[in-house]
Amino acid sequence: MSERVVVVGGGVMGCSAAWELARHGYRVTVLERSVPGAEASSAAAGILGAEVEAHAPGPLVSLAQASRKLYARFAATLGRETGIDVEYRECGVLEVALGAPAWKRLTAARAWQKPRPRALDRRELLRREPALNPKLSGAVAFEGDARVDPRRLFRALHIAAASAGVAFRSGAYVRRVLERDGRATGVALDDGSSVEGEHVIVAAGSWTSLVEGTGVAPGTVVPARGQIVELELPAPALSSVVFGPGAYLVPRDDGRLLIGSTLEFVGYRREVTAGAVRDLLTAAIALVPSLESAIVKDSWSSFRPYSSDSLPLIGPTHLRGLWLATGHHRNGILLAPITAAIVSALVRGRRSPVSLADFSPGREKRATHH
Ligand SMILES: Cc1cc2nc3c(=O)[nH]c(=O)nc-3n(C[C@H](O)[C@H](O)[C@H](O)COP(=O)(O)OP(=O)(O)OC[C@H]3O[C@@H](n4cnc5c(N)ncnc54)[C@H](O)[C@@H]3O)c2cc1C
Repeated sequence: MSERVVVVGGGVMGCSAAWELARHGYRVTVLERSVPGAEASSAAAGILGAEVEAHAPGPLVSLAQASRKLYARFAATLGRETGIDVEYRECGVLEVALGAPAWKRLTAARAWQKPRPRALDRRELLRREPALNPKLSGAVAFEGDARVDPRRLFRALHIAAASAGVAFRSGAYVRRVLERDGRATGVALDDGSSVEGEHVIVAAGSWTSLVEGTGVAPGTVVPARGQIVELELPAPALSSVVFGPGAYLVPRDDGRLLIGSTLEFVGYRREVTAGAVRDLLTAAIALVPSLESAIVKDSWSSFRPYSSDSLPLIGPTHLRGLWLATGHHRNGILLAPITAAIVSALVRGRRSPVSLADFSPGREKRATHH
């Protein structure tokens, strides 16, 4: 009989690991306290920014690049299996600068990167993106970066996982991991019931530290709120994703444009605040002046699972059969395919496709965030 896997959390991490394992013949149940995709995974902007998000060399850069390499295939497989175009677009990301000194600083700060981002002067920048403010001085272009629509991605993942045999339970709040003789045996729910499995994967995003028995100390993964404003335009104002002072702009194929985002440590407070909306709109209009006449369509906030050293927690724990896939902070959409590949390999008793030393849930010298 095939082994049972219990996944705690129905976000992009839980669902992509579940999908992968169901395709390998495991009997997988995803337990979600709300509905699948309720949290960060549907709120994300969808930038696949392996290069633009890399501010210093380190293990996260390699992990992000490995995941980005998997994305075209990940998106194509989801498209084939579900008929949903997840809007994976290899559009590139431009980081723009206002003022010659800022442009010089920007190009110097990015000089270590491989591939080295291309510097664009104002003329080249405006030729590529005519809607940008002509006062901008230049940009660096991360041509390998891409975008995806996280809500479409999540819908496709959910459908693909269910078609592969994953069972989803909504409204299932997991209190703790159950163990016997140093091995995980399942989870206990807050209604007093339990769900058994030979493997337990905890992918509870910003709430991971609240699940008992994972070995993750309180404060190890905390919520980092991000707010987003969505505009509607008759046609896309940009072809690339644009990072500028105070905001990033992410175009969608149908003309919508996302303006993100704040990074706030305010616990689990879900509000969208007037100050953030004002600041995001001001920064966006400074980047693309024609946005002044765009329609404000929506705004929302959600919680990035922030770990105190900014690295995800992926892999084995103090209990055999208990695995973590969490703490992906700003880059969880990007990191979903590689995380699913890692967790799936470990559950199947294979080697991880990448070294996990830096992402080990039990890694030393972790400072907790208060
Ligand atoms: C504003 C914003 C913009 C972002 N932009 C990007 C971007 O452009 N690119 C990118 O790559 N990433 C981006 N991210 C980050 C990305 O969204 C996250 O890293 C990723 O979605 C995390 O996925 P997850 O599955 O770990 O968490 P989540 O999607 O939060 O899922 C965790 C799930 O676990 C459930 N859960 C929690 N506790 C329990 C429990 N005890 N029992 C049962 N279920 C439980 C929750 O209800 C939730 O559904 C952004 C995030 C935010 C907030």
